[in-house]
Amino acid sequence: MPELPEVEITKQGIEPFLVGQSIKKFIVRNRKLRWPIPEKLESTLAGLKVKSIDRRAKYIIIDCGAGWLLIHLGMSGSLRVLNSPNDSATKHDHYDILLANDTIIRYRDPRKFGALLWTRQNPTIHRLIKNLGPEPLDQDFDGNVLYQNLRTKSSSIKLQIMNNQVVTGVGNIYANESLFHAGIRPTRRANSISREKLHILVTAIKKTLTKAIQSGGSSLRDFYLTDGSTGYFQHEYKVYGRDGEKCHICDTPIKTVTLGQRSSFYCPTCQK
Ligand SMILES: [Zn+2]
Repeated sequence: MPELPEVEITKQGIEPFLVGQSIKKFIVRNRKLRWPIPEKLESTLAGLKVKSIDRRAKYIIIDCGAGWLLIHLGMSGSLRVLNSPNDSATKHDHYDILLANDTIIRYRDPRKFGALLWTRQNPTIHRLIKNLGPEPLDQDFDGNVLYQNLRTKSSSIKLQIMNNQVVTGVGNIYANESLFHAGIRPTRRANSISREKLHILVTAIKKTLTKAIQSGGSSLRDFYLTDGSTGYFQHEYKVYGRDGEKCHICDTPIKTVTLGQRSSFYCPTCQK
């Protein structure tokens, strides 16, 4: 599943091709994504000029002047930049944004859990955006903010940092890795963790996400680089997916526990 780093990389990847360009044509092959692609979006978008592109949590927000496109990649979505309008689409390529210079931004999504929405309201007040918690990479997000957000939360710290109202965009892989770097066991009650420890956790979250963005995101079967080549290189994870393997720090076998139907990996010695 594309996590925050993949969405950020996608945003950065398409940005130079989109911003300042006019949309010549919007082509839909399949409207049935998580929510149907709005009727008449073809005529709405034709002729509009892209002003800017942003990311909020895992939403890519494209400012088209007359309104905003909200894109979510769902479980298996990807956006690619194609330079030839003759490039033939497959059955998983659900829409194309054809630009005035004949560049195509093509959306592929085998599992169809992604979304493409159109809003004329400022996206910060959109129903999918307005209740989201802080961005993990924002300067304002620190241990104090996390401490305040967790004070009344007695469920596990792992589930809390994956909760979009506590902090956005920290998915399963990065939650596991950040908790390892902070030395916190995923099952710890969120409101039992000291402010000092939460400062360390926030630093670990920022570092883990930043590193992933810098190295091009994690390797995902269904994810394609914006230039069309397949796959990001696989990260060296410290705990994620390493059940039974030795901890890189202390050699203790990594353990697994299920929290909220997701696997959590931790070192029973390094994480308390
Ligand atoms: Zn260890």
